[in-house]
Amino acid sequence: MIRMNSHYKKLKASYLFSDIAKRVTAFQENNPGTPVIRLGIGDVTRALPQACVQALHKAVDEMSMDQSFKGYGPEQGYAFLREAIAANDFQSRGCAIDPDEIFVSDGAKCDTGNFQELFATDIRVAIPDPVYPVYLDTNIMAGRTGEFLEGRYQGIVYLDSTKENGFVPSIPAQSVDLIYLCYPNNPTGATATRSQLQEWVDYARREKALILFDAAYEAFITDPDIPHSIYEIPGAREVAVEFRSFSKTAGFTGTRCAFTVVPKDCRVFDENGDSYFLHGLWNRRHSTKFNGVSYPIQKAAEAVYSPEGKIQVKELIKGYLENAAIIRKAMAELGFDCVGGDNSPYIWVDGRSDSWEFFDRLLKAGVVCTPGAGFGRCGEGYIRISAFNSKEQVEAAMGRIAKALS
Ligand SMILES: *Cc1c(COP(=O)(O)O)cnc(C)c1O
Repeated sequence: MIRMNSHYKKLKASYLFSDIAKRVTAFQENNPGTPVIRLGIGDVTRALPQACVQALHKAVDEMSMDQSFKGYGPEQGYAFLREAIAANDFQSRGCAIDPDEIFVSDGAKCDTGNFQELFATDIRVAIPDPVYPVYLDTNIMAGRTGEFLEGRYQGIVYLDSTKENGFVPSIPAQSVDLIYLCYPNNPTGATATRSQLQEWVDYARREKALILFDAAYEAFITDPDIPHSIYEIPGAREVAVEFRSFSKTAGFTGTRCAFTVVPKDCRVFDENGDSYFLHGLWNRRHSTKFNGVSYPIQKAAEAVYSPEGKIQVKELIKGYLENAAIIRKAMAELGFDCVGGDNSPYIWVDGRSDSWEFFDRLLKAGVVCTPGAGFGRCGEGYIRISAFNSKEQVEAAMGRIAKALS
């Protein structure tokens, strides 16, 4: 008899996006003359930068000729891409990251989800609330949680992100071994300061713990004081892994390319306290279970770092940030407390009511957002509005909301 992994039974079916879809469909049937404006999904809407498209075309042509055809590539990713990443994303910011410490992959979702495989089942895991659901769900699948009681899984240390702490949780009272952090945050759009990140790094060093730092929205940081990488924090090379992605940076959500940084100073420990290099473990896992991102896509990602690519990516991000500013201003003018939107494409709005109730009010006005409760218990009462749409649509949406709510 083929038996299932029963931990899967503990997963809460995510009704979030199907519930949203159902309500939107119902609204459309009753209001056929008012097409909804979608500011709900965490997906980009604007085309790939031209530099990436050109690199992609050129690489496809190379694949069409025997002399330049490529088969399997290096397991960690092509050196041309890892060198461009190390130089532009890290060394230029004073972070001593070597191309050898970079693992190219097809997504930060897979990497943030898969990384927990390297650790024992009985470690203590700390996960922010609210946050990107992948961290929690993959730990449930791996059997690191108990029962679901009052909206939370037993065995997980939840890091509450609330208005009181500025949506950046402080160090937990109990000791933990693995810590997920995501800044700029999805869904709150909040960022962490240098000193806040330093506290986490110092904590991890004291506890011999590890931080998994998801920097998928790094490109949206405009404030010069906010660190772009955890490796800008002294000591982080010993205790932190960083996840990055071209998805939100350069519109690669459908193209698929990301990378994970595992510094050679990070160690993990066995039951005797003997230490092992994390880099070696992830290398073994990555090369055993993954066969690389296609050559044309890695060439397209490399073009993000070309002179034209850099300008085009900046333009892309600037457009979304202008939308975010429009949203934040409009919601603030209506009297709502908001965070995010300044260094992030997401605006987290305190609706002062049930998340779904507020969602329904906006839907009545013809605008789709995401109810905060879908991201964790602390998200109740909030909604997330996304800047991923055209400026015209964002302005129209804010006009509709202002008319309906004021
Ligand atoms: C969008 C997103 C990612 C990126 O995932 P990809 O698989 O690289 O597309 C990672 N982390 C967070 C928090 C995200 O919102």
